[in-house]
Amino acid sequence: MKVLIYENRKQDPIIFDVSTKEKYHDALRALFAHLDVDWMAYDSLKGPLPLPESTTYTGYCPSAEAGIEVVMKKPKRVPLEYESPCPFACGKSHKLEVKLDAWVVEERREHEAQAPLYKDAAKGDIDAIETLLYERAGNEYEGFSVQETTGAINMLAEIEKRRKGRK
Ligand SMILES: [Zn+2]
Repeated sequence: MKVLIYENRKQDPIIFDVSTKEKYHDALRALFAHLDVDWMAYDSLKGPLPLPESTTYTGYCPSAEAGIEVVMKKPKRVPLEYESPCPFACGKSHKLEVKLDAWVVEERREHEAQAPLYKDAAKGDIDAIETLLYERAGNEYEGFSVQETTGAINMLAEIEKRRKGRK
């Protein structure tokens, strides 16, 4: 029999029978609701990501042959590119690129991909639920696995074989 097992370090395992496609979908729905309501796993996906206190943009002015660095304090949003008037005397404006830590970029990329997925999942879209659950299965409290149950008789037979092999 196929089962889906969910557990985390603060909770005993929940084991769902997923031996048919219908039961598997029911289990995904139940796990999604459990993570959403009881563990609040998706709260960060329910709104926009909080903005950083300040964001740094860097670019280059060819006329002045100098690097440009602009710090945006309390930005209203964090665009990845930003057109800024030249701080030197060239009179042009330059395209500046956002300078974010790798983990911030990853967090924003993930949020951008998963926020719409969560919206669909919350409406009951089973494909969105499945994708979201698997994409986030590496997060703490969100891990689960689908596996075949162990047949006790087969397991005993395998052990017996190993026992004989050792003699
Ligand atoms: Zn310039």
